[in-house]
Amino acid sequence: ATSAPPARADRAPASKALFDRAAAVLPGGVNSPVRAFRAVGGDPLFIARAEGARLFDADGAEYIDYVGSWGPAILGHAHPAVIEAVREAALGGLSFGAPTELEVRFAEKIRELYPSIDMLRCVSSGTEATMSAIRVARGFTRRDAIIKFEGCYHGHADHLLVKAGSGLATFGAPDSAGVPESIARTTLSLPFNDPAALEAAFAARGGDIAAVILEPVVGNMGCVPPEPGFLALVIDLCRKHGALSIFDEVMTGCRLARGGAQERFGLRPDLTTLGKIVGGGMPLAAYGGRADVMRVVSPLGPVYQAGTLSGNPLAVTAGLATLERLTPALYERLEKLGASLEAGLRAAAEGAGAAACVQRVGSMITLFFTKGPVRSWTDAATSDTKRFSAFHAAMLARGIYWPPSQYEAAFLSGAHSEEDIERTIAACREALAA
Ligand code: PLP
Repeated sequence: ATSAPPARADRAPASKALFDRAAAVLPGGVNSPVRAFRAVGGDPLFIARAEGARLFDADGAEYIDYVGSWGPAILGHAHPAVIEAVREAALGGLSFGAPTELEVRFAEKIRELYPSIDMLRCVSSGTEATMSAIRVARGFTRRDAIIKFEGCYHGHADHLLVKAGSGLATFGAPDSAGVPESIARTTLSLPFNDPAALEAAFAARGGDIAAVILEPVVGNMGCVPPEPGFLALVIDLCRKHGALSIFDEVMTGCRLARGGAQERFGLRPDLTTLGKIVGGGMPLAAYGGRADVMRVVSPLGPVYQAGTLSGNPLAVTAGLATLERLTPALYERLEKLGASLEAGLRAAAEGAGAAACVQRVGSMITLFFTKGPVRSWTDAATSDTKRFSAFHAAMLARGIYWPPSQYEAAFLSGAHSEEDIERTIAACREALAA
């Protein structure tokens, strides 16, 4: 093991100075809570630029990145073809608030990759996508209640901030202030991977339930795969009771396969939400599904949903340039890199005698500081978050930018190399020994 690296404020004076300035004008110094590093007890690094699998901070230090902008960067950062496409599109104007051919091409491409989607609508964030999909499900079924699962995060809309994972799990505050009780009460939160709880909920309230929404592979309590048959049961029970199944593939879409978790598991939900990768790093997301359901959306039907920047030409351009590069070879590579990283992290944890488990699906991976397996939020919550914080700081000091929360999946990109993985595993071995 190397000697202990210097404390972060000494190592990153420019980030520290920026964070002090930021704290005066942005709540917590950030524009999204998890970026503040509160869960791991350090100050965040301010990023100056990124390229491939590398981040460069305000002090010029270089990191191997496993956050990937929280998911979008599947090709790596600043992919030359994506940047060039956006640059060219920008010359034609940034936003028109009128239909464009680009949006049509994007929608056609999504429909080609996702056979469950007949029609879709573009929005600007994953939050808007899930919020709108729920409104569509309620409008279509003329019911109010929805079911979600503990530890699944679907963005920050009122009715979805009930026992959500992600940054909320980290803060130990599953609900948010400012969400009216009456709205939270329309959401029934059940344990993930618990068929009996789901069956009981439908038996008791089947006629009230508009939709079941889930992350088909959860990333927002760390990486938690579905037990065999669980996703199919969700779809079946919804169908039986006249509710709609919503796969929130904002994170898993185009990551676990071109056609997302639904392609990987061979399933067809009624509605799907997409974000992150489909926008190639720009603000773009979408919701879509069965044509008869999507026909309730305004101006065809009575469910209102709109957006000044929806289908923005630059965002759609970045998305299309990214989607075009999602080749079978890319997913093979991600699987191979993922398997190497998984094996290396597991060996490192075993070598250090740490109570830890590694969970991975494709290019999503988590090192949980609990014995495992982690199947639900109850399991995830047994993680030793203090130990994780020490691990995170030790990785950062060794040039590895791991997600700053136990309850976030790490992401691989096509730009990571075998050598990056080896360096990461070596850093992990030292970090766990430290
Ligand atoms: N759904 C899932 C599964 C997510 O992981 C996220 C964000 O991390 C969202 C929805 C919300 O997306 P956004 O942050 O773009 O609003």
